[in-house]
Amino acid sequence: MKRSKARLGNSIVIRKWNLSNIFKAIRKQGSISRIELTEITGCSAGTVSNHVRTLIKKGFVIETKKGISSGGRKPIQLMINPHKAYIFSIEIEVNQIKIVMFDLEIKVITKSVIPITYKDDYQKNLEQVFFEMDKMREEKNLKLDNLLGIGVAVPGLIDKEKGILEFAPNLGWKNVYILKIFKDKFNLPVILDNEAKAAAIGEREFIYPKMDNMVFISINEGIGCGVILNGELYRGASGNAGEFGHIIIDNNGLVCHCGNKGCWETLASESYIVNRYLKLSNSNKELTKKEIYQIGKNGDKKIIEIFNEVGRNIGIGLVNIINGLSPELLVIGGGIVEIKDYIYDEIIKKLEESALSISYKKVEIKFSELAGLAAVYGMADLIINERIKFI
Ligand SMILES: [Zn+2]
Repeated sequence: MKRSKARLGNSIVIRKWNLSNIFKAIRKQGSISRIELTEITGCSAGTVSNHVRTLIKKGFVIETKKGISSGGRKPIQLMINPHKAYIFSIEIEVNQIKIVMFDLEIKVITKSVIPITYKDDYQKNLEQVFFEMDKMREEKNLKLDNLLGIGVAVPGLIDKEKGILEFAPNLGWKNVYILKIFKDKFNLPVILDNEAKAAAIGEREFIYPKMDNMVFISINEGIGCGVILNGELYRGASGNAGEFGHIIIDNNGLVCHCGNKGCWETLASESYIVNRYLKLSNSNKELTKKEIYQIGKNGDKKIIEIFNEVGRNIGIGLVNIINGLSPELLVIGGGIVEIKDYIYDEIIKKLEESALSISYKKVEIKFSELAGLAAVYGMADLIINERIKFI
C-alpha cells in the first residue's frame, strides 16, 4: 500500500514537471511543433501529445499553421497564448518597490515604481503596493481571475516554504509574513524569494541560458548573491546559501548589520560609497547615492577615487567567489551598475592580481543586461513554471 502510494506520488511529480517543461519549451521557442518538443524536452511523443492537449484545452497554448516545412504538409505549430493569464512580479528594494505585470510570454505589460515612504511600517508600504496593483490591473481591464500568481523578491533572509521574510537588515524589516499578507489580500498563489536569487534566475533564463555555473552579485545598499551550480539554483540547507555579502574581509573592519565586523558588504556596497563620501567631505549633509553618482560622473576627483576604491573592494570579494566556486560567469547587478565604467578596471586589476589563475582563466565578468529588472524577470519565470503544474 505504502509503496504504491509512493509510486503514485512520484508519477504525479513527474507529470507536473513534464507539463511545466513542455510549456517552458514552447515559450522559449516562440513556435514549435510536437515533434520538436519531444526532441527538446526528452519526453515521449505520447507524453507531449497528452500535455499539449491539456494546455490547449485550458487555453494556455494555441495551434497555428505558420510552420516552415520542406514541402508537403506544414507541421502544426504550437504557441503560447500570451493573454490567457498574467503575473505580478514585485521587487522590494531598500528605498523603492518595483511592480511589474507580465504576460505569459514574460513580456512586460505595465510597470510601476513606488518609493518606500514609511520606513518603519511595512504594512503601510504594502498597502500602497496593493493600491498600485489594483490600479494597474484595472487600467488593463483585468480581473483577479486573469492572474496566475504573484512573485515577491526581497533583499534579505527568508523562510521560503512559509513565505516569511525573516530579516532584511538594510530595509529594517523583520519577520514579515509576506505570503500570508499577499494571500489575504488577493487570494492568489504567491511565491517569495530572495532578490539576488531571483535575479540570478532572470539573468540566466533570459540572457545566458547556456551558462550552467554562474553567480549573480547584486550590489545595492548591501550585497546579495544567487549561485547557479550545474544548471540549478543552489539554495543550501537553510535555503539561504549565497550570502557572500557577509564573508569577512577585514576582521577589524566596520560593524555590519549582521553583527560581525568587516563583512564584504561593509566595504563594497553602495552604502560604503555614501558613508565614505560623508566622511571624506567633512560635511554633515548626507548626499543620496544618486547625487554622489552624478557629481562623480561630472568629474569630481574625490568621488572618482571612492568609486575606484569600491571597485578594488568588490574585486576582493569576487576573488573569494572565483577561488571558491570556479564559475564560468559572474554577473554584477544592482544599483552599482550605474558606475560600472569607474569600477570595472579596478575589479579586473584585483582579479588578475589575486584570483587563482586556473579559475580566473575560465570566468567571464559581466554587468547585468536586464537593467534593474533581473529579479522581476526571475520571479515571473519562477511563478509561471510553478503555477503551470497546477492548471
Ligand atoms: Zn555581515
